[in-house]
This record gives sequence, structure tokens and C-alpha cells, in this order.
Amino acid sequence: MTKLKSVCVYCGSSNDVKPEYLRLAQELGRALAQQDIRLVYGGGGVGLMGACARATHSEGGDVLGIMPRFLLQKERIFEDVPHEIVEDMHTRKQRMFDESDAFIVLPGGIGTLEEAVEMLSWARLGLHAKPMAFLDEDGFWTPFFTLMDRIIEGKFTPEEFRAALVHENTPEAALQALCDRVVRLGD
Ligand code: AMP
Repeated sequence: MTKLKSVCVYCGSSNDVKPEYLRLAQELGRALAQQDIRLVYGGGGVGLMGACARATHSEGGDVLGIMPRFLLQKERIFEDVPHEIVEDMHTRKQRMFDESDAFIVLPGGIGTLEEAVEMLSWARLGLHAKPMAFLDEDGFWTPFFTLMDRIIEGKFTPEEFRAALVHENTPEAALQALCDRVVRLGD
């Protein structure tokens, strides 16, 4: 079985969210460390980003944070883990992509959605075949999947693209789904 080495996590930067979301981010962070998978993320110490990265780090796992210089203070860079400081958002997104084999999308806001959708759009254009899993416990991402159903039913995106859309409710299931897809794509 192909082993995932690095997973990029996209998630919210707000601290002002339900504790359940922060807990899920911590659980994912711990699961990554336990499975010896490096966390690649935006580098912040805030919100789900900070919760996930601190959990991976405390559990002895590897983390790489990638932070644009102008957000260093706003997103309170988590300095205890290896990090890169880049000049702009585009470079951050490219570096996060380059350093990862797959993506997990936790609950988040506009930034999270933007990052996930851009990676899906690159997949749609055939620029990469790295799998992505959306992870929530409460159906947070269900409206996005409903929209994607509508897009596919309207034939704006082909039916085959459904395979790129994975929705799971535990970190373990999300990681397993990514593993299965990395294996299949590597066949
Ligand atoms: P949010 O979900 O809005 O809390 O944002 C989550 C993270 O996405 C934050 O670290 C934002 O700085 C980041 N982000 C927002 N837009 C972009 C972008 N265009 N490229 C890279 N990261 C982004």
C-alpha cells in the first residue's frame, strides 16, 4: 500500500468557533502524527490551523507551516515547528501544494473554501491527481456537496469528477480514503 507522507490541511483561522471544530482539528493533528504523516498547513497559530498543528507537534509528528510575511502577526505564526515565510498568498498555496501528496479540508471560511476549490480546479484541468477529502462531523460541508451535485447534474463538470469529491466524518476515515485514492491513482 502506498504510504501517504505529507498531507496538506486547509481549515479555518477563526478562534471564535464551536469547540467541537477545534477538537476535530486536534484529533486530525494527532491522527497525522500517529500515522507518521507530515502536516503541511498555512503556518498559523490561530483557529483550527493552530489547534491541528499544536496537536501534531505535541504528539511528536512533523509539521511544515507556510506563511506569507504580511500575515505573520495576524495569523500568529506557530514558531515551534519548521516553517517557511513567503512573499504572497499565491506562493503559499503553491508551496503547500508542492509539499503534499493529498489534501484534507476541515471546516473553515472563505480562505479554506478558496484554497480547496482552487486545488479542485487544478485537478479538473488535469494539472494534478492528488486526492482531497472534506472532513466534518456535523455535515458542515454537505451544502458544498449539494452544490457539486447540481453542477454535475447540470453537466458543467463531468460525472467522473465525483471520484475527486470525498466526504468523511473521522480523521481515520479521511486518511484511509486518501490512501486508497493515492494507491489507485498510482496503479
Ligand atoms: P479562513 O477559512 O477564511 O479562516 O482562511 C483559512 C486560511 O486560508 C487562512 O490562513 C488564510 O490566510 C488562508 N487563505 C485565504 N485566502 C488564501 C489564498 N488565496 N491563498 C492561500 N491561502 C489563503
